[in-house]
Amino acid sequence: MLDKVLIANRGEIALRILRACKELGIKTVAVHSKIDRDLLHVRLADETICIGPNPSKDSYLNIPALISAAELTDTSAIHPGYGFLAENADFAEQVENSGFTFIGPKAETIRLMGDKVSAIKAMKEAGVPTVPGSNGPVPSDPEECLKIAREIGFPVIVKAAAGGGGRGMRVVHNEASLLKSISITQSEAGSYFGDSTVYMEKFLQNPRHVEVQVIADGQGNAVHLYDRDCSLQRRHQKVLEEAPAPMLNQESREKCLKACVDACIKIGYRGAGTFEFLYEDGHFYFIEMNTRVQVEHPVTEMVTGIDIVKEQLRIASGQPLSIKQEDVTLKGHAVEARINAEDPKTFMPSPGKVNYFHAPGGMGVRVDSHLYSGYLVPPTYDSMIAKIICHADSRELALKRLSVALEETFVDGIKTNIALQKDLSTDPNFIEGGVNIHYLEKKLGL
Ligand code: ADP
Repeated sequence: MLDKVLIANRGEIALRILRACKELGIKTVAVHSKIDRDLLHVRLADETICIGPNPSKDSYLNIPALISAAELTDTSAIHPGYGFLAENADFAEQVENSGFTFIGPKAETIRLMGDKVSAIKAMKEAGVPTVPGSNGPVPSDPEECLKIAREIGFPVIVKAAAGGGGRGMRVVHNEASLLKSISITQSEAGSYFGDSTVYMEKFLQNPRHVEVQVIADGQGNAVHLYDRDCSLQRRHQKVLEEAPAPMLNQESREKCLKACVDACIKIGYRGAGTFEFLYEDGHFYFIEMNTRVQVEHPVTEMVTGIDIVKEQLRIASGQPLSIKQEDVTLKGHAVEARINAEDPKTFMPSPGKVNYFHAPGGMGVRVDSHLYSGYLVPPTYDSMIAKIICHADSRELALKRLSVALEETFVDGIKTNIALQKDLSTDPNFIEGGVNIHYLEKKLGL
């Protein structure tokens, strides 16, 4: 087992990783920016190091500072969490070249999946269902572009190969606007991501967001941990997630789960990962793979009983996967509400001092949060302050439990989205199941 892990992240996920390390008897190093010295995991870690000023680029994105901190503390491995450098292939490479273990896939896998054109190609070859599209970058010949779009059928979506965070994509409804849209997306992609490559695929009108959690050891073994539905989104940001995804076509689901496992084995995948799909009319369409632990991983942990972060640590220490596919069984249903420090009307971040925090409790209630009474939520980083996860035998009870848990959650001093989450947990259409990715924005009148 690894001896000492440096946690290259902050907030709830840093605390989540710290807890997993402690359970496995691994020593921990917490790194933090100046303003983050009072973070809960910093107080609980074996060693702490300030890696720079508050802006992320000077601290959590500062590769030399992170590597120096690992050297100074004689760390054996680095866990990147999610966000920040978690999907940065150069970081993974530099960590490994400096003699530390990167807790995640090989740099080449991150690179392969970070470029959506190469990711889609690899997945298609491995038998994962993809969106009908240009099968590669759009050609430079305008006639060829039009031909491809006609074949796919309008509307189409033009997307940046290097895109992320819901940026660098444009929906095109007719032939007249195709070429202009391609060139605008290319120049946007160039300035946002430093790579102007774009591709084209069919624009699905009313899909759901369904994703598949996998874990693989890079030694030829891989399993899936079933699916999650994250269709409740605002501006492509997930708001409330659940596992398993309800009301799927069982035949396509089985096929898709198996294809994800086969793909992991084919590409030599190592660590935890997520295949993201759009799901429409009983069909799955791969859109991208996340090569890290995700915010919503706890819902899968609750229904499978498998600790995904501990699995990441075991795999990084070189152990083969301890779980076989037949050991993975689903028990009940889990939902997760992301609690953000934000204005409930404008959705603008609402940082500040938390005078008082009361977390919910009771059977089947899990709270992943770094919040405590007196904590100052800094204005500098992501506004998520807690995840409330509820597990029960049925979906209906899990949602009921979530609404009860939200009733007793109390955050004084800053504004939060708790009221919105309460509303969602009792929303009749959502309770019925299977709403699509536009549902929340429509409900909000956006
Ligand atoms: P990013 O990496 O920026 O998050 P994704 O490829 O995951 O980009 O797409 C983000 C979101 O954009 C999807 O969750 C979906 O809402 C929308 N989207 C992307 N591709 C399509 C498509 N082919 N049809 C319909 N919506 C799409």
